[in-house]
Amino acid sequence: MRPARALIDLQALRHNYQLAREVSGARALAVIKADAYGHGAVRCAQALEADADGFAVACIEEALALRAAGIRAPILLLEGFFEADELPLIVEHDFWCVVHGLWQLEAIEQAVLAKPINVWLKLDSGMHRVGLEPAEYAAAYRRLLASGKVAKIVLMSHFARADELGCQRSAEQVAIFEAARQGLTAEVSLRNSPALLGWPQIPSDWVRPGILLFGASPFEETNPLAARLQPVMTLESKVISVRELPAGEPVGYGGQFVTPKPMRIGVVAMGYADGYPRHAPTGTPVLVAGQRSQLLGRVSMDMLCIDLTDVPQAGLGSTVELWGKHVLASEVATRAETIPYEIFCNLRRAPLLYTGS
Ligand SMILES: *Cc1c(COP(=O)(O)O)cnc(C)c1O
Repeated sequence: MRPARALIDLQALRHNYQLAREVSGARALAVIKADAYGHGAVRCAQALEADADGFAVACIEEALALRAAGIRAPILLLEGFFEADELPLIVEHDFWCVVHGLWQLEAIEQAVLAKPINVWLKLDSGMHRVGLEPAEYAAAYRRLLASGKVAKIVLMSHFARADELGCQRSAEQVAIFEAARQGLTAEVSLRNSPALLGWPQIPSDWVRPGILLFGASPFEETNPLAARLQPVMTLESKVISVRELPAGEPVGYGGQFVTPKPMRIGVVAMGYADGYPRHAPTGTPVLVAGQRSQLLGRVSMDMLCIDLTDVPQAGLGSTVELWGKHVLASEVATRAETIPYEIFCNLRRAPLLYTGS
């Protein structure tokens, strides 16, 4: 079989979840949208369910898949419903539901619900993506209460720049949130991963960690709490061909890399069809036979080339870590001018194998 695979360390996932709770002192919804950022939502939910206060996903399709797999814990729909006809299913499966727009509030008011639902009322505190405007927030809260359709309301908002530790925008967003919720007595949920790790002074009865669960830091700078995260995914494959090349030979599509000296090249069964970023340049780190080395030339669909010149112990069949516990996904992401969120979500074809369950 083709040796490309992603090993998912569920013990590390549980460690990271516990760290989120310990650091925040709050209840934590494990954000496992987008198939748990490529890590497999059902298996991740099963591994966390005994500990987790609940889960959060992007849409009802993702939530129903978790229920179908037997997950009984609370599940928050981060964008609520997209169409009002989802409301009966939300009631039936006890999903918690974000309300981020007036049309959703009106749909709840007009719906006939078999029982009241839990709503997370979202304020646009300055990210300007979704959420109610500050001027309409308190009135929306009171309308929801008055509707009789709602059992509990949590007040929430989302940060645009919490990953920038020197940036004041998060503090401004908190001030806008505090002003908008004046006089409303309800639990609060503000902190995503970067706010959880980087902004301890921001209040949050509920935190919503996503990327940190998977062991990747949301920051570009080093951070003492982020340093305690354990990478969950190891993307690995094997060397399937070795080439000894003289100086002056091009390697891969476009001949973008030309050997500056005699070199030993390893070809690895991994490519952009597996989700390895095509834009990772020559020099992107890899680990081969336990030693750090580098990518050479363009990434192809099913293969990529690495430097074995100074790794004499490596050869045909050597294991290569593309990212994991030694080469961090964030290092690869930075080289490819993206973020670990995207490279995790892009993972495909390579099977997921679970350890530590
Ligand atoms: C995705 C998401 C999160 C998790 O964000 P991370 O940066 O991965 O921690 C939290 N809250 C909302 C509303 C989200 O959409």
